[in-house]
Amino acid sequence: MMEIDGSQGEGGGQILRSALALSMCTGQAFKLTRIRAGRAKPGLMRQHLTCVNAAAEISGAQVDGAELNSQSLQFTPGVVRAGSYAFNVASAGSCTLVFQTIWPALMLAAGESRVQLKGGTHNPMAPPFHFLERSYAPLLRRLGAPVQLALQRHGFYPAGGGEFEAVIGGASETLMPFDLNERGGLLEQYADCLAPALPSSIARRELNKLGAMMGWQPEQLRNAGVRQNEGPGNALLGTLVHEHVTEVFTEFGEKGVTAEAVATQLARDMRKYKLSQGALGPHLADQWALPLALAVHLRQQPASYSCTELTPHALSNFEVIQHFLPVSIRTEPLGNAHQVLLTPA
Ligand code: ATP
Repeated sequence: MMEIDGSQGEGGGQILRSALALSMCTGQAFKLTRIRAGRAKPGLMRQHLTCVNAAAEISGAQVDGAELNSQSLQFTPGVVRAGSYAFNVASAGSCTLVFQTIWPALMLAAGESRVQLKGGTHNPMAPPFHFLERSYAPLLRRLGAPVQLALQRHGFYPAGGGEFEAVIGGASETLMPFDLNERGGLLEQYADCLAPALPSSIARRELNKLGAMMGWQPEQLRNAGVRQNEGPGNALLGTLVHEHVTEVFTEFGEKGVTAEAVATQLARDMRKYKLSQGALGPHLADQWALPLALAVHLRQQPASYSCTELTPHALSNFEVIQHFLPVSIRTEPLGNAHQVLLTPA
């Protein structure tokens, strides 16, 4: 059984999620020790436990250590079955991270899957639903993996209660790696402000400030509609649509942080991206490696991408991927950015 030290590198929850995803895709069992040792509260939190349980359900795995706060886990996957599933984080924990854990395995399974997810859809420190929908899913489709996402209800910390549905098509025959080193021309840029159950002045102030800093027109500043009984919560999203990639940047409002400060930070993040030659921003750079490595391995063809930044989170993720797949991941400087090169080992 493969042994993985969960304290390696950045020592967070991604080591667990990538190990679960790749264990199911490759059929390799693993033992993970010192889970999230790099975090103030180590071990499995509710979101991580939901990931383990969801992975066990879709793959009929044998699992030891799947308990809240557990710091070690043994996971032996069975056969991944496409089908209808429902997973609930039962707190404001991120359900988008649960979805990313099971997506690769369901995408390689024969047949279509329909997955209903409940929990936080817009959480700090996790991919917001709009990022999955606008940035991540289009890249997966281009890789040959059909997916449809539909948001039914926004869920914010601390209330949670968000919900979305994903329909994933089997892609083991169609997956094909591709290079993504240039973002291409800028086609569209706009902001959405989500502020359910909060005073309307918050959204207005955030959008005004962002518009002023980015030089955007009123039609680029959207005050997003929300459903009854959502929130409270606040996320300001900046979307930059380029020919080959769409990036979604997100800042969350919280008590004690002014609406103007939220907008200023988002404008800074987008400007930083605009000044770089990298195609992918820091989060996509991290999350793109796993599906791309699967395609590189399946087709035995190299592929590369450029990115603005390589976070410690991304570098730890590359390590886990290389534990499971015979794919080598190298990084090189590329102008004011970086290039990530994946080659079948
Ligand atoms: P911990 O590390 O405490 O265990 P965790 O398991 O919730 O926490 P991380 O390991 O930090 O999470 O991983 C969070 C993931 O969410 C990473 O893949 C990161 O790229 C992604 N992410 C965080 N913020 C955003 C964002 N604004 N947009 C897109 N993705 C994001």
